[in-house]
Amino acid sequence: MTKHTTDIVIFGAGIAGLWLHARLRGAGYDSLLLESRAIGGGQTIAAQGILHSGLKYAFAGKINKLAQSISAMPDRWRECLRGEGDVDLTQARLRANSQYLLIPPGMMGGLIGLVTKKALGGSVESVPEKDWPDDVRRTGFKGSVIYMGEPVLDVPSLLRALAEPHRDSIRLINTPDDPRGFLEQHGITPRLHIFTGAGSNHAIAKALSHDKGLETQKRPLVQAMMKNAPFPLYAHLVGASDKPVATITTHEMKDGTLVWYLGGGVAERALDADPHEAIEAAKTEFAKYLPALDMSQVEWATLPINRVEGKSDTDGWMPDTPTIHSAGDALYCWPTKLTFAPILGDMVLGKIGFEPSGKTTDFSALPDVDYAHAPWDKTEWKA
Ligand SMILES: Cc1cc2nc3c(=O)[nH]c(=O)nc-3n(C[C@H](O)[C@H](O)[C@H](O)COP(=O)(O)OP(=O)(O)OC[C@H]3O[C@@H](n4cnc5c(N)ncnc54)[C@H](O)[C@@H]3O)c2cc1C
Repeated sequence: MTKHTTDIVIFGAGIAGLWLHARLRGAGYDSLLLESRAIGGGQTIAAQGILHSGLKYAFAGKINKLAQSISAMPDRWRECLRGEGDVDLTQARLRANSQYLLIPPGMMGGLIGLVTKKALGGSVESVPEKDWPDDVRRTGFKGSVIYMGEPVLDVPSLLRALAEPHRDSIRLINTPDDPRGFLEQHGITPRLHIFTGAGSNHAIAKALSHDKGLETQKRPLVQAMMKNAPFPLYAHLVGASDKPVATITTHEMKDGTLVWYLGGGVAERALDADPHEAIEAAKTEFAKYLPALDMSQVEWATLPINRVEGKSDTDGWMPDTPTIHSAGDALYCWPTKLTFAPILGDMVLGKIGFEPSGKTTDFSALPDVDYAHAPWDKTEWKA
């Protein structure tokens, strides 16, 4: 057996692992990325792809340095999309350059609009009714429309953009519960282990006695998917609460059929809730706020899935930043949001503590791993 001393092995090819792998290799570190299922196959392929600008915090009055630092994220991603950033995303596509905030009359609209603008600056503009986009007008929506410079990424193309240049060093691990055993079996000795397996991180830390002081949380969602959507729409629909009642992004199935993917309030429920509840919630909100929507041809499906992250100090909220737990020769990482991957990259690089070897070990003898399928391409639809 050939023995490899390598700089870093990363476990988990979601956005965290893929971003770190690309960033570390770009910096000259000899890095191997091991994935147990499929590239992007956890939360990342299920993400709506929104590059958040801090809006969610502005909604709940959480205008603080966090909102300001998140508001820098869309520009940071755009640099990468132009090929001028930390990682090369020139092969990734945007589904939309911007989104709309739809505020029904009497829903604190003026206040939310003002607060949002104050938090996020120039990327937010109120749209006069005569300039409303046709797609918004066609929903029958009444109220205020606010333009937001929050881009929406096409996640499958993002996965490929990050992974394709490094495919020979992104390989399958068939014993994910025994990461060290796998490395021993293949004669691989890294100086640093990075765990980006989201839900599996805590159990692995525990098994390796690395869990002292480690706290994580799960926030469940039941995302509804609406097939044969009438047109592409990217919007946060605001209701009476401090979070959008629905966040609508549009995606394409392999045959080009449009799917609306629904996050926000309609999705926030327990994983074992009756999936029809999420669908009924979406139908109710659409009937109320988007009454002209033609839903005669639509079919529905749902995806129950946990968001997994470091434990937040504020109940019911996500942490303010990515979380890194250091123990022994390992870092356990949660980006908190796909949007925060660049910040996670900065944080990890600041913690490595040794210089890159400049080597590029050939790992192509290890088994290959495929890309994950989007949720709308592997679900059962019902009218
Ligand atoms: C429905 C939904 C919508 C979202 N929408 C957005 C959005 O619009 N914008 C945004 O910024 N964020 C969004 N998020 C949050 C975002 O998706 C997550 O924060 C992010 O994808 C987490 O990335 P990750 O790499 O940590 O985990 P994951 O994407 O879950 O990746 C973990 C990977 O590790 C693999 N793995 C697990 N254990 C092991 C092991 N032992 N060895 C090897 N591999 C292992 C898994 O198979 C998986 O591929 C959304 C989340 C959800 C659930």
